[in-house]
Order: sequence, then C-alpha cells, then structure tokens
Amino acid sequence: MTDRTKKLGEDDRNFIWHPFTQMKDYEKEEPIVIEEGDGVYLVDTEGRRYIDGVSSLWVNIHGHKVPEIDKAIKEQIDKIGHTTLLGITNPTAVELAKELIDICPPGLKKVFYSGDGASAVEVALKMAFQYWQYRGKPKKTKFVSLENGYHGDTLGAVSVGGIDLFHAIFKPLLFETFKAPSYYCYRCPLGKTYPSCEMACAKEVENILEGHHEEIAAVIFEPYVQAAGGMIISPPGYIKQVRGYCDKYDVLMILDEVATGFGRTGKMFACEHEHVTPDIMVLGKGMTGGYLPLSATITTQEVYDAFLGEYDEFKTFFHGHSYSGNPISCAAALGNLEVFRKGNTLEKLQEKIEFLEQELQEFRGLMHVGDARNKGLMVGIELVEDKDTKKPYPLKMEVGWKVADLAKEEEVLIRPLGNVVVLMPPIGISMEDLKKLLSVTYNAIKKATES
Ligand SMILES: *Cc1c(COP(=O)(O)O)cnc(C)c1O
Repeated sequence: MTDRTKKLGEDDRNFIWHPFTQMKDYEKEEPIVIEEGDGVYLVDTEGRRYIDGVSSLWVNIHGHKVPEIDKAIKEQIDKIGHTTLLGITNPTAVELAKELIDICPPGLKKVFYSGDGASAVEVALKMAFQYWQYRGKPKKTKFVSLENGYHGDTLGAVSVGGIDLFHAIFKPLLFETFKAPSYYCYRCPLGKTYPSCEMACAKEVENILEGHHEEIAAVIFEPYVQAAGGMIISPPGYIKQVRGYCDKYDVLMILDEVATGFGRTGKMFACEHEHVTPDIMVLGKGMTGGYLPLSATITTQEVYDAFLGEYDEFKTFFHGHSYSGNPISCAAALGNLEVFRKGNTLEKLQEKIEFLEQELQEFRGLMHVGDARNKGLMVGIELVEDKDTKKPYPLKMEVGWKVADLAKEEEVLIRPLGNVVVLMPPIGISMEDLKKLLSVTYNAIKKATES
C-alpha cells in the first residue's frame, strides 16, 4: 500500500463519521479510497479497477465520466453555480422540469425540486396532508405504508418506513401510520403462495382503506421493488390494483421511484410497467446520472390547484430547501436525459435484462441461494442456511459481507442488505462487464456458502 493511501485512511478515520456504518468495525480496516471513475469502473488510489456493482449506492446510471453529463455541468458552471427558486427561476431548472413532465406518466404536471430522496418524500407527505386540508376533508391526515418499505432517513420518511433494523430506535419520534404487508412472495407475510393467493397483500391495502379512508391522506410505497428492504419484487399487477383502491376510496397514491426511476427496472419509471399514474411521484438517486444531489416531487394539476389562493389565505406550500433547483444539478440531470435519448439506453438495456435473467437460473441452482429475483437490473439474491426450510443465516454470520469481501478480491464492489446479495450495476454497463459481475458474484457466493 502506498504511503498516500495509508495516510488517507488514517485521516479518514480521524475525521469522517460514515453513514450506515458501524465505525468500530470500520476503524479496524483499511478503506478503499476511490479517486477516479472510468465508465462502470471505480479506480482506487492503488490503481485497482473495480466494477461498480451497485452503482455507487444506486445512483449511477450510465457509468462515470460520461461526456454529455461532464459537458453539461462544465457549461453551467461557466454561467452560475447557484441561484434560488424562491420566487424567481433559472433556465436550467425550467428546461429540466419541462423534460421531466415530458417523460413522466401522463397526468403529472408540476415539478417540486429538493436535494435528496428523503427530502422529496417529506415534500410528498406534506403535500398530500395539506392538499386534503384545502379539499374540505381535514380529517384525512394519516398514511398507509408497507412493511419492509424504505423512504429515506429523515423523520417523516422514517415514519412511513418499515425496516425495523434501521428504524426501531427512533420510534418515539415518529408519527403513526397504517402498515400493509410487504409484497414479499418468497417469505409471504400472509403465509400464502403466488399466484393462488390472488394478491392478498394488495387486498390488505384495500381492507385498511375500507375501514379508515376518511382519515387517510395517501398510500405510499415503492413500485415493483422494495429496494432497501432486500430487493423484494412485487407480483405483476400490484401497482395497478392499489391504484384502483386509491381511486375507489378517494385517497392519494404516492409512488416512491427514488430507487426504481431512470431505467433501473427496464422502463424509465417502474409504474410504466402497469400504465399507472400516481398522484405524486418521488424521484431522486439516478436523476443526475449519479453525479449530484437532486430530487423531485412531481404531482398533478389537481393537487397543485388546491394550493392556489389569495396571499392572505396562506394556502402556500410552506416548504423549501436552500438548493432547490440548483442549476448545476439540473444541468447534470439534463445531461443524463440526453444520454438516454441519444444512446438509446432503454432499448439496449433489454438484452442485458434477458441475459441477466438467464444467468439468475444458474444462481438458483446453488446450495444456499433461496431466491434470486430481479426487476430489470435490480437484483436480490437471498442466501439461506437451509433451502428447504428457508431458514435464514443468523445475521451475525454476515454471510452477505463474506460474499462482498470475496468479490472485492476480484475487483468487484458490491454491498449486501443483510443476507441478500444486491446487484444493481449502472444500466449503461456493457454485456462483457455484466458477465464479469455475474460470474464473480456467482463464484463468491459458492465459496462463501459451500466451503
Ligand atoms: C434511497 C432511497 C430514498 C432516500 O433517498 P436519499 O437521497 O438517500 O435521501 C428514498 N426512497 C427510496 C425508495 C430509496 O431507495
């Protein structure tokens, strides 16, 4: 190891508190120090080149150092770094909003910018809450969310979250929500089997709405993939069915597409698979191609119109962030969309998804792979101690991390969620690199679980 890498590791331990990281463990290890990117490769200070197997925590879309995005950012910097959206505007934010509305499901008309996913979720919750205050239904103040759901780490987002491991300790700070079961077929919380269950999990949403719609503002969930919950994939039709219940009981539908948006599931947005338009859609992560923080809460004319009034009616949506609509972030997002258009990203993606799905068959043959599931290039491989009984590995065995550590030796960077090995490469990955990512992961799982 070079002296420089060593020193950087030391300074890192001295000065940085890392997110979602047990620092006691972290302090014992020499961190990888990534200094450069090159397509889907991350290059560290030792010159090693790793495949970015989880898109730098689910944000990267076309790879690193994408010429179109680099150029868009550089051109914007030569004009201005930041200007506010409070009461005034900037051309880059305008152009991006227009393009977003263009690619969003029909019926979504207004873009509200924030900086990260959690903030955009807060915006969605507050927007839905306030909307009903003006629609003459002030009792509609509560939310339905899903077990295993994840919507970010701010307190409102945690309140609608459903991952106890992350959130239990904050319980006294949270507001109460109605919790519907997760659409987790491999471990069905209702003890049923798909398809004979007739999607009883969706029906549970209806049961809650039937009993409580007069006090419910909105249903919020992640369409098709509960990502942080363990790459759990919904059965087809779930989104559409819940849309139907929301309509029937006059409740808003909030879809959190922070993880699934921008091509990750094979279409631009996951709700497109079922031709559903939510009342509020939340975007983040991949929005700038993985370059800069930017998120958006996008809603309908109807929701927007409810907030219109005379100044002294104070119907204003009293929410904002200092960097809402930051032009450099917006420029990166425009660059991202340009690559989608010119590079035919979504078309080229389809054969990668097909190949991936073939390969996942092989994974299912492994002794300790209980379930290998995907939607598009979002993949969860759930490792179990006993395949017949689905008995999970004890968490303290850290079997997911064993796989990740073995992959790291082969210059592939992945980050598991408990016993679920997660793969979520940039969708711009080449077939060759996708093959490498899969074969390294396969061998790492075999080695970690069978020897
Ligand atoms: C990551 C994530 C968030 C939170 O986004 P941040 O930018 O990390 O705050 C919200 N919702 C979903 C579905 C996510 O995956």
